[in-house]
Amino acid sequence: LPAVSSLRESDLVARLRRRVGTPPAWITIGIGDDAAVVEPPRGALEVLTTDSLIEDVHFRRAWTAARAIGGKAVAVNLSDLAAMGATPRAILLSLALPADLPVDDFDALVDGVVSAAESHGAVLAGGNLARSPGPLVVDVTAIGEVRRRRVLSRSGARAGEYLYLTGSVGGAAAGLALLASGADREALEPTLKECIDRYEQPVPRLRCGRVVAGSRAASGCIDLSDGLASAARQLAEASGTGLLLEAEALPIHPGASTWASRADLDAVQFAVAGGEDYELLFAVPARRERAFLAAFRRCRDLPVTRVGRLRAEPGAWISRAGSLEPLPTGFEHF
Ligand SMILES: [Mg+2]
Repeated sequence: LPAVSSLRESDLVARLRRRVGTPPAWITIGIGDDAAVVEPPRGALEVLTTDSLIEDVHFRRAWTAARAIGGKAVAVNLSDLAAMGATPRAILLSLALPADLPVDDFDALVDGVVSAAESHGAVLAGGNLARSPGPLVVDVTAIGEVRRRRVLSRSGARAGEYLYLTGSVGGAAAGLALLASGADREALEPTLKECIDRYEQPVPRLRCGRVVAGSRAASGCIDLSDGLASAARQLAEASGTGLLLEAEALPIHPGASTWASRADLDAVQFAVAGGEDYELLFAVPARRERAFLAAFRRCRDLPVTRVGRLRAEPGAWISRAGSLEPLPTGFEHF
């Protein structure tokens, strides 16, 4: 198999450009110049975020296909935009490529990046290619827009407000554990296979972030990159409150429950500590709860669940069968 080291940088850029196609008119200068030049969004603020996926820290090339790695590098950034109530506009891609990376994997990685961006309305506007003496690094910067009065942040919440969570938790952590255990994914039952998909192909909750931001029914929001326990703590800390989750209310992914019981782990602890679900956690004042739920009905088929509340008493707790337990701490990659 030919490796990227057999091609010049200009050849790789040409392959990338072919995949991206013609940029929209608001990109005055796109891929191929020293920098990209874009027309700013009219009447909106720009939202900027960056995050990288590093081989053997965030993914293993032996476990996950190149296309999925590219898609996930975009999704984790778009999830941050979703948590701000923003709409994606453009991304920048910086790749550090090991010399032995097959050209086919380079093409698949780029296809994953561009497909994920396109599916959420973002354009790849530029980036950088470099050789890596070690791991493959996929670094993405995402740029979005949001109207001034619709910005969601972590710090606007107050004690007494409810915590609402989109989707389910624990699935991605179960997917990672399954890959690490060497499970044959083709032989897995559907709910467990779905866990691997949740780990490898997270779906940024952009529509929900936008709809809730537009309703102005939430006082704060954060995405679940490092798990529910970590996200809830960060939201509470930024707002200067304590927090209480309810174990019985948690929407634990069925595959996570199955994995936890097989691995002899506590499903609740596993699900709240497990990372990478990329759901959104909202703080909602009681008087805005009906407006929040009404707005949420426009989030297509995504469920939302009240999982706890912020409270004046300090500390992070989870209640189960009538007693309080300290909330587990978060998740570490590998
Ligand atoms: Mg985030």
